[in-house]
Amino acid sequence: MSAAGRGLTRLSAHEMARGLRAGDFSARELVDAHLDLAHATDHGLHAWLFLDDPRAHARAEDADRRLAEARRQGPAALAALPPLLGIPVGLKDLVVTRGQPSTAGSRILRGFVGPFDAHIAERIDAAGGVVLGKTNMDEFAMGSSTEHSAWGPTGNPWDLGRVPGGSSGGSAAAVAAYHCAVAIGTDTGGSIRQPATMCGVVGMKPTYGRVSRYGIIAFASSLDQVGPFGRDVRDAAALLQTVAGRDDRDSTSSPLAVPDYLDGLPDDDDRAASVLRGLRLGLPREYFVAGMEPGVGARVREAVAALEGAGAEIVDVSLPHTDYGLATYYIIAPAEASANLARYDGIRFGHSLRDGDVLANYLATRGSGFGPEVKRRIMLGTYALSAGYYDAYYVKAQKVRTLIKADFDAAFERVDAIVAPTSPTVAFPFGARLQDPVAMYLSDACTLPVNAAGLPGLSVPCGLSEGLPVGLQVIGRAWDEARILRIGRAYEAITADADWRALEPSSLPALDDPSTEPPRLPGAASPA
Ligand code: GLN
Repeated sequence: MSAAGRGLTRLSAHEMARGLRAGDFSARELVDAHLDLAHATDHGLHAWLFLDDPRAHARAEDADRRLAEARRQGPAALAALPPLLGIPVGLKDLVVTRGQPSTAGSRILRGFVGPFDAHIAERIDAAGGVVLGKTNMDEFAMGSSTEHSAWGPTGNPWDLGRVPGGSSGGSAAAVAAYHCAVAIGTDTGGSIRQPATMCGVVGMKPTYGRVSRYGIIAFASSLDQVGPFGRDVRDAAALLQTVAGRDDRDSTSSPLAVPDYLDGLPDDDDRAASVLRGLRLGLPREYFVAGMEPGVGARVREAVAALEGAGAEIVDVSLPHTDYGLATYYIIAPAEASANLARYDGIRFGHSLRDGDVLANYLATRGSGFGPEVKRRIMLGTYALSAGYYDAYYVKAQKVRTLIKADFDAAFERVDAIVAPTSPTVAFPFGARLQDPVAMYLSDACTLPVNAAGLPGLSVPCGLSEGLPVGLQVIGRAWDEARILRIGRAYEAITADADWRALEPSSLPALDDPSTEPPRLPGAASPA
């Protein structure tokens, strides 16, 4: 592809938006540049399960018509165009879209074609965002590495022998590798924030209920939330702005007005940094957990010191039930998943084996359609919900969930937001945690409690440890996305000159080499 085309992919979405309005390039050129790069370099990354060039071209041409019309009408019309107009977007493979496949990373949904658009897909289309395709993920969003995808894992653009995090690892890797400017993920226990961290991009889980889940293939309905990835906070905020707000088709989506997130995120670094003055930021001692890599702890503490140096007051806080987050989550999430996944019966969706009576078909379809992690979760969940154990496990877990939320409520009486590590470790090598589910589950120790409490959490890159990205998590009060975005933007502003900000993911040159092999799990004979 041309150097100019490649240059376009390196812009942030807000720079792309400016260039489109100025007529420096067209949406079609922008989208072609991204599709060319994705086609040329995804062989070694496997961030995408599906790319839809014809549809992306049509949408890009629509965007160019809207731009041309606004240009005719004058500067006010141009300024009123949505920030996402013409911007290349990736969707996690669990977002249902009309006429396109969505497998949620599972064999059981092979061949399923969406009969309608998810609410967020409608919103992105209406705003002129150009969806390029669907990104890889752990099966039904169960995992922290994409190694549970039925279609083979995604590589990490910083080291192709390592995981990108998960479950939304394809979206994080696609944004990090410049295949799209922004992408959608979902976060049930960390699945946006943890891969954002591991790929060195920005990711946000909004407050539970901020974004409609209509048309999102469900994992655990009381925890799932849709959110954005971007290479900077303004880009993630623009995507959140596009998808947030009430939708009558999801009764858990909130009727609260959605603030103008971009309003508080100035381009000017000094103005952006000024929000830190006098802000009270809580540092929870329980989040510097056993098993945290020293380099990760060091980067996060440096980030906190930088925030303090810019005028924030750092307050030591305690979230005493943090330790129970993992156990609570691994009762509630599998319980809800076991109910949600009962609908994959071989009759209504996708994969279907019919070689016997109804029960035989059901067993054959589910037995061959679900992977081992999904089966493990279904067994955990049905066990926890069974008559004899319901009170001992599920009801108990719900009570502990209330205590976890109460910890945050108490902390937020003293502080405006909480800052913490996102993940205790940098990206790990393929296979490192695959044989030990509990080791895999520990990847989310710092993110799960936020889902249990329904709060918004943002992860922003804060440097490298051993050459791999580290993330700073900013947790807010419910519905306080605007504030945590401002804190994230302020952190970008005060570290704008840091050396690590100038680095590109170190494996991009390998992706340019056509002989680079697809990522694969240790022991796998050939890529799935
Ligand atoms: N890694 C966690 C799990 O496996 C969280 C996944 C998620 O947020 N979707 O359940």
